[in-house]
Amino acid sequence: MTSPSLYWLRNDLRLSDNAALTAAAAQGPVIFLYVLDDETPGEWKLGGASRWWLHRSLEALGRKVPLTLRRGAADKVIAEVLAETGAKSLHFTRDYAPWAGALERRVKDICDAASVACHRYGGFLLHEPESIRNGSGEPYRVYTPFSKACFASGEPKPLKPVPDFAPWKGALRSDGLQDWGLLPTKPDWSGGFAQHWTPGEEGAAQRLKAFIADGLAHYADERDRPDRDVTSRLSPHLRFGNISPAQCWHAVRAAQFKAGAKLDKTAEKFLKEILWREFSYHLLHHWPTLPTVPFRPEFASFPWSENPAALKAWQRGKTGYPIVDAGMRELWATGTMHNRVRMIAASFLIKDLLIPWAEGERWFWDTLVDADIGSNSASWQWVAGCGADAAPYFRIFNPVLQGEKFDTRGAYVRKWVPELARLPDQFVHKPWEAPRLVLETAGVALGRNYPHPVVDHGKAREKALAAFQQIKGAA
Ligand code: FAD
Repeated sequence: MTSPSLYWLRNDLRLSDNAALTAAAAQGPVIFLYVLDDETPGEWKLGGASRWWLHRSLEALGRKVPLTLRRGAADKVIAEVLAETGAKSLHFTRDYAPWAGALERRVKDICDAASVACHRYGGFLLHEPESIRNGSGEPYRVYTPFSKACFASGEPKPLKPVPDFAPWKGALRSDGLQDWGLLPTKPDWSGGFAQHWTPGEEGAAQRLKAFIADGLAHYADERDRPDRDVTSRLSPHLRFGNISPAQCWHAVRAAQFKAGAKLDKTAEKFLKEILWREFSYHLLHHWPTLPTVPFRPEFASFPWSENPAALKAWQRGKTGYPIVDAGMRELWATGTMHNRVRMIAASFLIKDLLIPWAEGERWFWDTLVDADIGSNSASWQWVAGCGADAAPYFRIFNPVLQGEKFDTRGAYVRKWVPELARLPDQFVHKPWEAPRLVLETAGVALGRNYPHPVVDHGKAREKALAAFQQIKGAA
């Protein structure tokens, strides 16, 4: 009998364009193993919203292939499964989290000791982080030259079809997915997620198709508008590998070529966003302390505030700044937040409230369905001004002006902060400026059904700039 090959599923929960599965299938009957490993990532085990996504993705995949589910440290579980099945080869997709390299080395040692061939493949990224270097052979620290180098390195490899595979028929113990308790309880705040998302490979393919049909043409001009629905919403699918970045890239390129020059600008813009994801992982790979340590050392002595009440107001969407509150409530209800609003809400936490960026990073880690160790860390550091390629610290978003610019008529705020829905456009981003009669007519009672601003933005800005002056020059 042919020995089975073990395919270790990780952030590649799909069958198509999957080099690890393709290779495993070519070697023999395939064991599909997913390990829920809450031990190896330490403090970065999956957050609540990610667990919801994982459950639904595994459920979708489990309808197509027989999954073996085990819980524990991945290397130990793999050693057990190799011993139980006599598999002669192991195949997996590379992961770039700071703990993943050491884990993969331990897995390789286990395979070597058992005379099992161990194979690692790419696919989570378009470019291996080691493969893109600047003229001096160093990793990039700045996005624009990095993205140019990526474009110059050519188009991604052709996609791999779903391979012909035979699932292994041997007896193997598996946990029940329901028993893992991945879905939130007490409180079950994920109730609204299913209306917004279809995790899994089919859901990702439908999302990509819908984006190309409806969003792509407007993407370059309107991607900063939270009141429009033009972005792809592919991030959680990419995070869990329901789709590969190469599949997104090739589909958008195909649409661009089909449309002649009409989609050139907007397609390039989308591909550049995919490269922001690559850049985040490039930074994470070369600076693995990115999730916890400010890239710019002077920020280690930043005079942050301890302000649990303000942190809670931010988390609950009760800061009194409508665009920030709308974003934080969208996040809680749906597991996502529009990118522009992520920037505004993050800037508000860090610069208006002077709360450490790591607190916001943690909250996003738990509540985002796309919570991703590369993009989340790099983005928080970017907004804080302490990242590699950061917006300068002194560029402080004004939440009122940002709201008025990108949510021009307040449709986004009205959707997520319904208590402000009846305010006229001119006050929807600054209810405290509305005359009493206007507030009364709109049913807004500041301090009762909608909070007064937790800080005065003008004063907070001055305080933030003074704090920044304290660390300038320190290193
Ligand atoms: P689209 O605009 O359709 O972009 C296509 C894809 O490009 C996205 O799906 C995503 O994979 C990638 N992308 C787009 N913008 C960025 C970016 N700025 N950085 C990295 N990749 C990008 N993104 C995550 O995937 N996970 C996170 O945990 C995460 N945390 C963030 C935290 C903060 C404070 C900020 C400001 C941004 C964060 N982002 C994160 C980046 C970005 O907000 C999301 O990727 C984007 O909103 C996802 O929506 P979309 O799929 O519709 O994006």
